[in-house]
Amino acid sequence: MIASYPPSIIANENQHSDKFLSIVVPCYNEADNIKPFLTRLSNVLNEIGLEHEIILIDDGSRDETARIIAEEALINPVIKLISFSRNFGKEAALNAGLAHSSGNGVIQLDADLQHPPEVLFDFIEGWKNGHEIIYGERRSRAYEGFFKRVLTTGFYKVFSTISDVKIMRGLGDFLLLDRKVVDAILALPERERFTKGLYAWVGFKRLAVPFDVEERLHGQSGWNFFKLYKFATDAFISFGSIPLKVWTYIGLLMALSSFAYGGMVILQRLLFGNDVPGYPSLMAAICFFSGVQLLGLGIVGEYLSRVLTEVKQRPLYLVSETIGFDKNNKTSEKDTDGKQRLAS
Ligand code: UDP
Ligand code: MG
Repeated sequence: MIASYPPSIIANENQHSDKFLSIVVPCYNEADNIKPFLTRLSNVLNEIGLEHEIILIDDGSRDETARIIAEEALINPVIKLISFSRNFGKEAALNAGLAHSSGNGVIQLDADLQHPPEVLFDFIEGWKNGHEIIYGERRSRAYEGFFKRVLTTGFYKVFSTISDVKIMRGLGDFLLLDRKVVDAILALPERERFTKGLYAWVGFKRLAVPFDVEERLHGQSGWNFFKLYKFATDAFISFGSIPLKVWTYIGLLMALSSFAYGGMVILQRLLFGNDVPGYPSLMAAICFFSGVQLLGLGIVGEYLSRVLTEVKQRPLYLVSETIGFDKNNKTSEKDTDGKQRLAS
């Protein structure tokens, strides 16, 4: 028999101490980083002294990432691997990690050591003091390229102006979530997930821990302009309908101004006998209005494509292999649909 929600069942079935930690790490082409990352993380975790598991998600890497994690998992039973059938993106990887985690607290951090594991001491402190979302707040974005910095700052400014949800400033994917928050996030059914918005939407007691982002250890950031563009459109579309509604007002404004312009042309003809200036003004008007209409149509299309994605209800990710889960919890080995499942 297969049971599904709530995911907290997974946690409750395990007889862990009341402060069991799950560390969730998305990995995409991180072969050179895995070992140094695990060494540094393990040192910190040992010092913290809480029982824990480290879940590494191989997001369809094209290098040796999965093999290296599998080797580490053989040596160290707290290390677990979820391998995706292809690259599904960081958000999907994080979701898989949360769904497979069994800790009362779940920590998310990047595998490239840009999120220094030493900050976890403060995270745990905050968690023990009763906070439910403890997040690393980036002090500076100096390590990022100028282009990305300008785009992301601009994006957050516009987003916070037009959306009801206020994203926490400096929030990244470096956080500790209490089990309550993890369950809330996992219970949200949407397929297109703008997680930063979701963290803000769920509420709970928050604590910001300022930290300096370090340089990427090896390799290159998986981000590019198109990923950023998709990220931004996902954000706007999943957290508000202003881009959709604004066309009514633009249309109204244009109708009114063309009405006024029409009146002006008639008046000119009657009073001064002027002919309407011809070809250039017509061309300009046609081009302008077709542009505006296409833009409006495009935005409606963006919403429609997302509605289609939600309606299809495809899984967020497909798992090709998991290692290490059968020993400590009951998560199924053959979890291939991106939902929480328990093997009977
Ligand atoms: N990542 C992933 N899937 C992707 C891209 C990135 O799992 O498609 C992981 C990556 O391995 C890293 C984290 O997400 O652990 C952050 O990615 P990256 O360093 O490329 O992004 P940045 O730090 O520049 O935001
Ligand atoms: Mg990085």
